[in-house]
Amino acid sequence: MKYIGPHVSATGGVENAPLNAMAVGATAFALFTKNQRQWVSPPLSAKSIDAFKANCGKAGITPDFILPHDSYLINLGQPEEEALQKSRNAFFDEMKRCEQLGLNMLNFHPGSHLNKISLEDCLRRIAESINMALDQTHNVTAVIENTAGQGSNVGFSFQHIAFIIDKIEDKDRVGVCIDTCHTYSAGYDLKTEEGYQQTWKEFDETIGAHYLRAVHLNDTKKPFASRVDRHDSIGKGLLGMDFFQRFMRDPRFDDMPLILETPDETLWAEEIKLLHSLEN
Ligand SMILES: [Zn+2]
Ligand SMILES: [Zn+2]
Repeated sequence: MKYIGPHVSATGGVENAPLNAMAVGATAFALFTKNQRQWVSPPLSAKSIDAFKANCGKAGITPDFILPHDSYLINLGQPEEEALQKSRNAFFDEMKRCEQLGLNMLNFHPGSHLNKISLEDCLRRIAESINMALDQTHNVTAVIENTAGQGSNVGFSFQHIAFIIDKIEDKDRVGVCIDTCHTYSAGYDLKTEEGYQQTWKEFDETIGAHYLRAVHLNDTKKPFASRVDRHDSIGKGLLGMDFFQRFMRDPRFDDMPLILETPDETLWAEEIKLLHSLEN
């Protein structure tokens, strides 16, 4: 079965996120557990945590289909020591918040070398950052997202992700989230039937299919291999409906959160219905 839902707002408290998901007919959702543009947010209150859990129950969505995303400020491959420490602390805090909410995954972009260190050094720092966070927490899996490769962002090649995973000590608590927009922008041709099969084969051979924990299901505004990250609404961009039909009929993506990060939230309810209609 396919579980689909958008990255919903948590404005007014994390407990509102599951209600926002329910309102658009979602069976999965993503959220920020703190303000994604600030380094420090007040700790989650016991009241907020309880309400979050109760509202997830109301929405009928279990933690296996909830994919929290970390703050965009965090760079786990940061070249500068002081800034790296700041990122590591913030990431640790995000992992803790997931733990408190009873969630079992945290999705994040690997990081950026900022043209100050080599790609490999950056990937090594990221792996070290993840190991440190896993060491200090329990039950939460670090879910690395592939990127479009914009600017100095690493993680656009499946090889980068394999390199990081290879250095993770607790391999049971590391996973991958594939963003379909990023994948196409990074130069994996998901659009054609042949390219689609080849991309997932390459994913399996390079990283390992069993590491796939979630998918960000987005269409894209930017051309193949452009290395630019611009999401589009389902079926309105360059990936197109044939791709989404192929994807929805592919059992490899059953029973994991499929998250919409599509730009027009007034379309979310419609997009979810549309995707489900392609299943058979
Ligand atoms: Zn994404
Ligand atoms: Zn993106």
